[in-house]
Amino acid sequence: MLNFTVGPVMSSQNILDIGGMQVPYFRTEEFSRIMLENEQYILRYSKASSGSKVVFMTCSSTGSMESVVMNCFSKNDLVLVINGGSFGHRFIELCEIHQVPFISLDLEPGRKLTREHLYEFEGKGITGLLVNVDETSTGVLYDTNMIGEFCKKNDIFYVCDCVSSFLADSFDMQKCGADVMITGSQKVLACPPGISIIVLSPRAIQKVKDNNVRTMYLNLKNALINQERGQTPFTPAVGILLQINARLKEIEWNGGTDAEIERIAAQAQDFREKIRELPFELVSESPANAVTSIRPLTAKAYDIFLKLKNEYDIWVCPNGGDLKDVIFRVGHIGALTCEDNTILINAFKDMQSKGFL
Ligand SMILES: *Cc1c(COP(=O)(O)O)cnc(C)c1O
Repeated sequence: MLNFTVGPVMSSQNILDIGGMQVPYFRTEEFSRIMLENEQYILRYSKASSGSKVVFMTCSSTGSMESVVMNCFSKNDLVLVINGGSFGHRFIELCEIHQVPFISLDLEPGRKLTREHLYEFEGKGITGLLVNVDETSTGVLYDTNMIGEFCKKNDIFYVCDCVSSFLADSFDMQKCGADVMITGSQKVLACPPGISIIVLSPRAIQKVKDNNVRTMYLNLKNALINQERGQTPFTPAVGILLQINARLKEIEWNGGTDAEIERIAAQAQDFREKIRELPFELVSESPANAVTSIRPLTAKAYDIFLKLKNEYDIWVCPNGGDLKDVIFRVGHIGALTCEDNTILINAFKDMQSKGFL
């Protein structure tokens, strides 16, 4: 099986081997040390400002999106949601569920966010901003520094969902002024799904402390207190946290975050060059490195996904909803190489020679 989806992705042999081992008990000094080490790596890799903290949530990243909406906002806020696709829409649903007042900045699929879009909302009493830095449904990358400037100027609490962009596109939490960064285990970290990570700036920590949120499992105040000693309130996905530890070290040995980002950028560029001859159109005006969003011109997107899966044992990422037949996506994250790209291209060419594309 060759997996070009955007999560879960292919893991390195090292990570797979850890997954085959017994899972240890976790209320121990040894496990706490690993958790504190994980925190230090994440703080460094996200370039968080000093005084920032990390919590490790046992849930998919939507759980962390929900936790952040609940813990950082209330009915007294007015949140601007950058809504360019299904992940933007997820933030809207979360604001609705938790009765956080919001305004949706709607973008057509594939469109980038401009200063003009953003500054239209100046002076409207916005107190928070939610953005999916790579809107993974269409592979659009938003400019975190440009949004950060807007937030700084207007004293807006700034939340970056970097679930698919963390370690794929450069991100400097301190420079862009983000208060919260969210990511997950099954994207660039290339571990199994199950752990989501939240980085909180000093201002975010204060906000969490001041907010009396009504939730047990998604309570960040409790998570922060436990992480002080390298622990979690409840049993975490221990095995995945050990895999994350190995993976964070793997990234370090391979040259650090810049090298990882460059590797993924090169993987994406190689693919985008190789598909030039195929009857495909690129969707994103501002392509993220993690994923290429493709509009096929001669076949239905979902049929291509099925055919690749069933006849070639290759997985690409289908879209849902209105875009199901219109767009499919090819990921560039996880343990993939340019040779793997060639295998996928050859499958497309084979489909073409048989009249399917
Ligand atoms: C993958 C992803 C998520 C989280 O999805 P889960 O299925 O809950 O892990 C959130 N936001 C973005 C931008 C993503 O790419």
